[in-house]
Amino acid sequence: MNMETVLQRIDGKGYKAYQDLVGTYTFEQFTLHIDYVQPDPFANPSRMRVIIPRCAANILPEWTDSAVRRTALTDFLARQVAAALAGRRSKGGGSGKSGLLEIDAPGQEVLLRTAVAIDEESIDIRLSAGLPAAGRRILARQAQRMLGDDLPAVIRQSVGNLNPRLVEEHLQLAENQQAIREHLRDHGLICFVNNGAILPRVSGVSNRPLPADRAVLFKSPPEMEVTISLPHGQPLCGMGIKAGITLIAGGGYHGKSTLLAAIERGVYNHVAGDGREYVISDETACKIRAEDGRRVEKVNISPFIANLPLGKDTTEFSSEDASGSTSQAANIMEMLEAGSRVLLMDEDTSATNFLIRDARMQSLVAKDKEPITPFIDKVRLLYEQKGVSTIMVLGGSGDYFDVADRVIMMDEYRPLDVTDQAQKVAAQIPCRRNAEGGSDFGEVTARIPAKHSFQPRRGNKEKVEAKGLHTILYGTARSELAFVEQLVDASQTRSIARALKTLAERLADDQTPLSTLLDNLYAVIEQDGLEAISPYRGKHPGDLALPRRFEVAAAINRLQSLKIKA
Ligand code: ADP
Ligand code: MG
Repeated sequence: MNMETVLQRIDGKGYKAYQDLVGTYTFEQFTLHIDYVQPDPFANPSRMRVIIPRCAANILPEWTDSAVRRTALTDFLARQVAAALAGRRSKGGGSGKSGLLEIDAPGQEVLLRTAVAIDEESIDIRLSAGLPAAGRRILARQAQRMLGDDLPAVIRQSVGNLNPRLVEEHLQLAENQQAIREHLRDHGLICFVNNGAILPRVSGVSNRPLPADRAVLFKSPPEMEVTISLPHGQPLCGMGIKAGITLIAGGGYHGKSTLLAAIERGVYNHVAGDGREYVISDETACKIRAEDGRRVEKVNISPFIANLPLGKDTTEFSSEDASGSTSQAANIMEMLEAGSRVLLMDEDTSATNFLIRDARMQSLVAKDKEPITPFIDKVRLLYEQKGVSTIMVLGGSGDYFDVADRVIMMDEYRPLDVTDQAQKVAAQIPCRRNAEGGSDFGEVTARIPAKHSFQPRRGNKEKVEAKGLHTILYGTARSELAFVEQLVDASQTRSIARALKTLAERLADDQTPLSTLLDNLYAVIEQDGLEAISPYRGKHPGDLALPRRFEVAAAINRLQSLKIKA
């Protein structure tokens, strides 16, 4: 087909005539597939793919010879295309989304995404476009400029103009990050923060680093320093946090939460220049917080909460409006069920009565009048019996000195190892509290979701939609994810919405435990790619990014329609 001919024919007609553009067009360096044309200028943009032979972009064979490299390479290509699109001069004008040309651009994290795919022969770049219109009349000349001139220019400037040195650096960083993850696993470590890392962000809502001249660079306490050799470049020095119980203490505003936030995000790889590119955490680490008001469906929270008023059962605890402490207990038990080996907690976002119950309170309020067993009495059992470590920010209570393996103190943004002092203090000033946790952590109960939990029907239609980063609309239900802090990219949220649909279509039955459903979901993705969960598979699945199983579990656990089988 010739695009110019089609466009000339439909110029000035009603928007519907744009449907004639669906098809395949041959350009000098690439093929353009227009897969889907939006019904009107305000609707979701049209979807198209650019297919370029590998040789036209000088892609070397060794750039794709491992999964780590492939993910890093497609991430690099998506960033290049996004940068070239951002520099486009003529953005058009016109109604609705007229003139828009977009790729699902990566942020600070390097995630497996579907925006760019690559195989033995070619690169496949997935774009969204707003076909130009004045009101609802087709502006063919603008469309011709956008697709016939801008698009080839963008492709020339990005994938047509790769700097092999920069590509290599991007891939080598990914391999170094991978090597650190493996090192952690093999050496009993759960987190690494390199010397020189920049942890603080520009602001509470930005994911970008504070400029280096305004940040105190990270420097490990000598006692905790480890050196990790890397496949590329010099060995790296930094703080290694061992499995066990680690406290981050220190005065207010001394950088405790900032360190924990970096550890939280260290489950993902970050791009060079982020400041946290060598902050690497155990990939199963889960931030746990209080989330009062959330729904909880039949979670066994009895390790932490028992003997509720009116005899409410806590081995199958349900609530449409959980309290601070019960929601925090449920968040822990759900993440343990999903397989987390590291819990991360910050006093700023915890329920105080969940963290501590001091000697005075213990003598005023008898144990049989207090349903909560505070975390302090379970944290060691959790590690010793279940192998689950905890890293905890706590400036407000020294009672935890008794149970911590390691105490870090943040002092003007510099970490000090104060374990020995903390132990001396604990010996000199006994906290006089009674341990209330018993000798067993208790059971992590596997739950079986009913299949109809994942039914996306709404009337005669289906509703499967992610709204930004924090909301999934699913059938007649929703899942609110505002407090799921390790969900970092709206494309992950879209993937989770699709994952629920995949469960409904081919994975869920009425017998499979939640954690096995997650295993099966990731087996599908492992085998057929993230595109396997897209409805546009084989055409344009280009706006998904891989979430962790913990965030998928979090969405399921918050889904209003979730029903656990009794
Ligand atoms: P805390 O949790 O100990 O009260 P925060 O981690 O919230 O302290 O940090 C307080 C402020 O200091 C934040 O604005 C944060 O961005 C900033 N900050 C944290 N770490 C650094 C650092 N290494 N260099 C410069 N500023 C920092
Ligand atoms: Mg804080």
